[in-house]
Amino acid sequence: MTSGLALPTLTLPVAHAAMRADERPSAILQTYARAPITLAGGEGTDLIDDTGRRYLDFTSGIAVNALGYGDAGLLAAMHAAVDAGPAHVSNLFGSQAGEDLAQWLVDHSFAARVFFCNSGAEANEGAFKFARRWGRTLGPAKTEIVALRGAFHGRLFASLAATDRPAYRAPFRPLAGGVSIVERDIATLETVLAPDTVAALIVEPVQGEGGVRVLDPGFLRELRAITAERRVALILDEIQCGLGRTGTLFAYERAGIEPDLLTIAKPLAGGLPMGAVLLSAEIAGAVEPGDHGTTFGGGPFVAAVARYVVERLADPALLAAVRDHGAWLASELAALSAGGEGSGDRAVRGVRGVGLLWGVDVREPASDIVTRARERGLLVLTAGTHTLRLLPPLTVTREELERGVTILRDVLSMKTEKPS
Ligand SMILES: *Cc1c(COP(=O)(O)O)cnc(C)c1O
Repeated sequence: MTSGLALPTLTLPVAHAAMRADERPSAILQTYARAPITLAGGEGTDLIDDTGRRYLDFTSGIAVNALGYGDAGLLAAMHAAVDAGPAHVSNLFGSQAGEDLAQWLVDHSFAARVFFCNSGAEANEGAFKFARRWGRTLGPAKTEIVALRGAFHGRLFASLAATDRPAYRAPFRPLAGGVSIVERDIATLETVLAPDTVAALIVEPVQGEGGVRVLDPGFLRELRAITAERRVALILDEIQCGLGRTGTLFAYERAGIEPDLLTIAKPLAGGLPMGAVLLSAEIAGAVEPGDHGTTFGGGPFVAAVARYVVERLADPALLAAVRDHGAWLASELAALSAGGEGSGDRAVRGVRGVGLLWGVDVREPASDIVTRARERGLLVLTAGTHTLRLLPPLTVTREELERGVTILRDVLSMKTEKPS
């Protein structure tokens, strides 16, 4: 660096042009710490990088790619949706594909009406608005939204206010008001859920990002009883745990309850961006034209693809396989946790999960294990600093699960010292 003052604006672009493409800083804003591989293809449960290397994918694009990669039926549905007509018509007119998908969701759930949007956070923001709209019909101050310790509901202002991650929240204060986070116990909720001021309680039946915590069905039933008694809308966020991942189409089925509002997104449209809010007849009855909107939500292209995906994810054989895999993983992962050295420094401290959504508490930083697993050809996620998260496609085979667990076992029992 000799002539710092000369032509300072020219040095940077010239230097970049001389770099190889893969050495250039990405033009994408770095809101994610990206892994140093570029994925170029996929087949079944395998992802393939741009050098041709295969990885067993236990991430599913963070619970999105429930049917894995290259699924012939999904590809055919996408092609048919392209051929069927415009990808988008405005919500001022609507489309048959959107009507069909909404009707399917109503026929297969507690809901009477469906609102389509484009992501999970957007679905939760919509659910909050619908709950408040309804709450106001019961009382002028019935507006508060309550979320639980360990929750993740998204990164927008109200969904972030309902997300229990200090690091995600602190830089962006002030967050949306009227949203609070409380402990996950009935005694606290009995105090907090005041009928005159609380419009809604939002709950993930299985907390995903926050560490994979399967809420007890009995606890969910108690929540349902208290919220019903106090006329607080129960919003279930099944964006990660819904649509087959726990072995039932909706996770709430495991507890034998029904919510007032339900949000879904991640796997809904086979990798295309789509979210939805499902509403009970009572809540839907409080919402009027003009109350909420979104330009893209439920367009014919995504809706037609989603209609195919939900049919596949509701297949009893697929759901039975997810439950079987879940029972197998429960015992395999428990064995990981029980094995190992002395109890003081065991590599695995605990496992939690259901169906094909599992968390493994590890002694080391989870991100170190994610890196070692990737180097061995297995992609896994974290859920917090010391929890690994496994989210294979719902079409995963037992043989693939066995291979993945074997890699995980090897990687976990490896010495942590880096080779010199
Ligand atoms: C991913 C997720 C969201 C947010 O979804 P986006 O599409 O990323 O906005 C909300 N809630 C839960 C439970 C999630 O897992």
